[in-house]
Amino acid sequence: MIREPESFAILIDTIERFVRERLIPREPEVTETDAIPEDLVAEMRRIGLFGLTIPEAYGGLGLTMEEEILAVIALCRASVVFRSCVGTNTGIGSQGIVFDGTEAQKTKYLPRLATGELIGSFALTEPESGSDAGSLTTRARREGDHYVLNGRKRYITNAPQAGIFTVMARTDPESKDAKGVSAFIVERASPGLVVGKPDRKMGQRGAHTSDVVFEDVKVPAENLIGGVEGQGFKTAMKVIDKARLNIAAVSVGAATRILDESIAYALERRQFGQPIAEFQLVQAMLADSQAEIYASRSMTLDAARKRDSGENVTLEASCCKLYASEMVGRVADRGVQIHGGAGYMQDSAVERFYRDVRLFRLFEGTTQIQQLVIARQMLRRAKR
Ligand SMILES: Cc1cc2nc3c(=O)[nH]c(=O)nc-3n(C[C@H](O)[C@H](O)[C@H](O)COP(=O)(O)OP(=O)(O)OC[C@H]3O[C@@H](n4cnc5c(N)ncnc54)[C@H](O)[C@@H]3O)c2cc1C
Repeated sequence: MIREPESFAILIDTIERFVRERLIPREPEVTETDAIPEDLVAEMRRIGLFGLTIPEAYGGLGLTMEEEILAVIALCRASVVFRSCVGTNTGIGSQGIVFDGTEAQKTKYLPRLATGELIGSFALTEPESGSDAGSLTTRARREGDHYVLNGRKRYITNAPQAGIFTVMARTDPESKDAKGVSAFIVERASPGLVVGKPDRKMGQRGAHTSDVVFEDVKVPAENLIGGVEGQGFKTAMKVIDKARLNIAAVSVGAATRILDESIAYALERRQFGQPIAEFQLVQAMLADSQAEIYASRSMTLDAARKRDSGENVTLEASCCKLYASEMVGRVADRGVQIHGGAGYMQDSAVERFYRDVRLFRLFEGTTQIQQLVIARQMLRRAKR
């Protein structure tokens, strides 16, 4: 659903111009320094990118799912690390509070997440619990008016920058599954909370992950999301359901850029006395990429509209995440192929995208986990 087409068109135009004029020219600098320059972060804050999905009542733009998808596709024509910079605030680092937070929690944290003054991270994964997230062992023990947290979280996006973490921890020590898990808002300054060194990753230089360790960290009981124990895994799954559509949009945006780069190169590069774009075997690669991007974009927008109209889109979100994240891998591979040897060199944007997009098949549920979710949903619907 697009609420006000005219004002929304202005937002998309602003993002597209920002991507073209400010972000794309600075991509090599971000890769080189492994950091996003402060002036660009300030511009992202001014445009409102940190608050895209936070309700207007708390200072954000309150985009609908369809609007969010279109904004993310536009943003991700630049290196996907710029999206990662704002992505936890617009996604997994804020939406648990948006969906299930108490009024006091929303009022306290959402306005500063919306401006980007505060960075929010989402801490579910642990060293021994990844795809099987419900088996997590981080423990939260109630003591009077607070909880005491102990455990270790792994690969937490934006942890080095984060001011708050949405942490999933086990409040029922007898439970072994998702039912005994609760979600907490934990402030970084809490004594006993230690953020590890940034991980050394395959790609996405400029975006950071690290371990987050909790050693007897005292968290006020009022920071239990929604104020009810045992609801944390449900909150996490709602957040991840939405994030899967978001990653599908990220994949479409990145694939569109890779294809743009590939077309430009194919038109310019000459072999056998003509541009390589004239060779039908090169055209086949361009055409396959175009068709797959169109399919991914269409299905993601369709699922977004369904979600906006109140439908449960767990199945559709997993279909979009599965298809689009695999699609961008193929598009990036063809992009490198079309660039020939130049595509293997670090000066080319396609080489960077090739490494960066590999992540999308792994996080927010791997491809195999999406297959399991889709099959489970299909069978459940068939049995009704
Ligand atoms: C860069 C990066 C950023 C991340 N950011 C965050 C974050 O901000 N917050 C957070 O909480 N987590 C984050 N993660 C963690 C991410 O969500 C997990 O890595 C992911 O869910 C996979 O878990 P795992 O790495 O433990 O793999 P595993 O679960 O060990 O999976 C290994 C392999 O086994 C397969 N597999 C597992 N179970 C099954 C099954 N039942 N059937 C078939 N195949 C199966 C998987 O598909 C995969 O191929 C991030 C990860 C990365 C790499």
